[in-house]
Amino acid sequence: MINTVATAPMVRFDHVSCSYGNGPVIENVDLTIAPGEFVGIVGPSGSGKTTLLRAMLGSVKPVHGSVMRSSGLRVAYVPQIETVDWNFPVTVSEVVAMSRPQRSWWPKLQADEKAEIERVLEHLGLAGLSSRHIRELSGGQQQRVFLARALMQKPDLLVLDEPTAGVDVRTRHEVLHVLADLNESAPDRRDGESGIAIVLTTHDLNGLAAHLPRLICFNRTVVADGAPGDVLKPYFLERTYGAPMEVLQHGGMPVVLEQGSDELRLRLSRRGA
Ligand code: ADP
Ligand code: MG
Repeated sequence: MINTVATAPMVRFDHVSCSYGNGPVIENVDLTIAPGEFVGIVGPSGSGKTTLLRAMLGSVKPVHGSVMRSSGLRVAYVPQIETVDWNFPVTVSEVVAMSRPQRSWWPKLQADEKAEIERVLEHLGLAGLSSRHIRELSGGQQQRVFLARALMQKPDLLVLDEPTAGVDVRTRHEVLHVLADLNESAPDRRDGESGIAIVLTTHDLNGLAAHLPRLICFNRTVVADGAPGDVLKPYFLERTYGAPMEVLQHGGMPVVLEQGSDELRLRLSRRGA
């Protein structure tokens, strides 16, 4: 998936810097996202990951350089679910219905619009939950409701900000599986089209990032960009996080240890890693 020069990129950053007024928070960023890619962005808090996503969406304009999106590109954004007000009295189908440009309320929707929402919910394993209050759902179900909302926009590119922050291991697996499916083939994609391209940010190096085909280590700028096995290296990790980290190989996968993770190292070595 790296250096897919043969395909025209969907998104291309050329020397991009962005600022909220007090000097750049991201600086001199060069990257491209090609159709069908699945890319993770990792970096410490405050390193500019969300700003990078906003620049990708066009909601933050560069103060330097340019962000090019291919013409007609449909991008959908899934914000961090931690920022959602769960007491807002809406049902699953209402949340999804509100994503549509017309924003009409669920009871006023046409039968075909309702059918489309039901179809997307079913595709995400949420069939039968449409009249539930969003507060009554599990973390994984809530995350999928917001995915459903994004999918209603029939995106070519899905951008997710920390989709697994604050969720348990099972939910993380659930979310990852749904994303992998959408990346392979999504509903509404025309024949011959690749699945939806996905870009996400995550703090989870071992549980998520290491499993993706392409990873970007980010701290104000791109520190490393490539396959997890190539970028999850002590040199790049220290430059990204500003702290020494160790990397073990376990079952062909890189496992990142913060210094001081002696207990985990011991457990892995007992298993013959
Ligand atoms: P991350 O997502 O990696 O935590 P952010 O992109 O949210 O990083 O933030 C990068 C920097 O920009 C931080 O120093 C943050 O305080 C600052 N920042 C983010 N959003 C705003 C904003 N709306 N106004 C001013 N500063 C902001
Ligand atoms: Mg962020």
